[in-house]
Amino acid sequence: MKKIAVDYLGCKLNQAECEAWSQILTNYGYEIAPVDKDTCLYILNTCSVTSMADAKSRRSVRYIRKTYPEIKIVVTGCSATEEMKEAGADLVYSNTEKDRLIADLLEKGIISKRSPNDNDHIKNRSMIEIQQGCPHFCTYCIVPYKRGLSVSRKPETVIETINDRIANNYREIVLTGTEIGLYSSEGLNLYSLTERILRECKGLQRLRLSSVQPFEINRELLSLYQNDDRLCRHFHISAQSGSDKILETMNRHYTREFYLDKLSLIRDMLPDATITTDIIVGFPGETSDDFEDSLSLVSEARFLRTHVFIFSPRKGTKAYSFPGKVQNSIQKERSFILREHAAKVAESVIKERTGNKVSVLFEQKETNGLYSGYSKEYIRVYMSSSSDLTGQIKDVELTELYSDGAKGFLI
Ligand code: SF4
Repeated sequence: MKKIAVDYLGCKLNQAECEAWSQILTNYGYEIAPVDKDTCLYILNTCSVTSMADAKSRRSVRYIRKTYPEIKIVVTGCSATEEMKEAGADLVYSNTEKDRLIADLLEKGIISKRSPNDNDHIKNRSMIEIQQGCPHFCTYCIVPYKRGLSVSRKPETVIETINDRIANNYREIVLTGTEIGLYSSEGLNLYSLTERILRECKGLQRLRLSSVQPFEINRELLSLYQNDDRLCRHFHISAQSGSDKILETMNRHYTREFYLDKLSLIRDMLPDATITTDIIVGFPGETSDDFEDSLSLVSEARFLRTHVFIFSPRKGTKAYSFPGKVQNSIQKERSFILREHAAKVAESVIKERTGNKVSVLFEQKETNGLYSGYSKEYIRVYMSSSSDLTGQIKDVELTELYSDGAKGFLI
């Protein structure tokens, strides 16, 4: 079977697009696998949120070209510029040309429809892109300039895609986009789209929302979770900072108090829900007091996971020219302190849940022989088993902290 490698850098949207292409290419009879000497085509969906991501995309292309001179290289996404051809790409598709990428590769004879998909193979999680673009213009973010304002996929197309994934044995569906709370098509918003998916996608086992903004959390949306346990009670809500001053400079449209109030609402209505977040450290003007505010936010919010990012200025954004740059050594120090603190908070969040029953989708066998997967609350769960658990959903009791999650046993 011919192999194609489909890779991405950056956001969940890029991941969702790669999944969709991988699905189509698998249906055409290709094996999707990491690059090696047997790969015939390498597709890279690039990111340019930071200048580091830009450079990484170019490095990847150069590396593949040098190591595997025979492979056709196709580059798309936010860094898909003519420079990529200089780095070794054969074809470059801009963001606006992405939609016709597969059709164009077929037309050019680079790929062909080979054999039907093996429908019996068990798969785990599938990301479904429901919208693209964002009009929020956070001062550090290039996305609104690169991806434009919000464009949503039609509900019929979303439902059709989900039903197709369900028919292909995917256990969990994740709704993704640049900013899924902005979903708007044919009179539906995120709430009504989710409600319609739950109603119309009969074989659906789990549905997860990838990430929402605090101002998109409301009683109506949470009531859907109360009424349908196929919805995973896990919310990824980027906080970015615990300091009101920094939130304002970032143009995040909420305060710390507003953010924490939304978390309280979630916990009132869904006591077992978990929250994960992203925080940027070393944003221009961030003082040690502002940083302390981020540390205390992590404790107060009791995040299950905190992704810590060091601010890196992106050309073309407002923050690129903001005064008050934080020294690199201080940024690194703050990143280290916050990661350590967040890990301790996460441990205590998981520890509180030992003895609880959770439903786990097992995804893989680790090198140490344990099976691992995620609960609906996004707790990573490890378990030993004599039978293959890959792709299965099982009820598990959590027994103890382990690695980045917890160990458990089958109930
Ligand atoms: S919400 Fe802010 S960070 Fe997120 S995509 Fe929009 S502008 Fe960028």
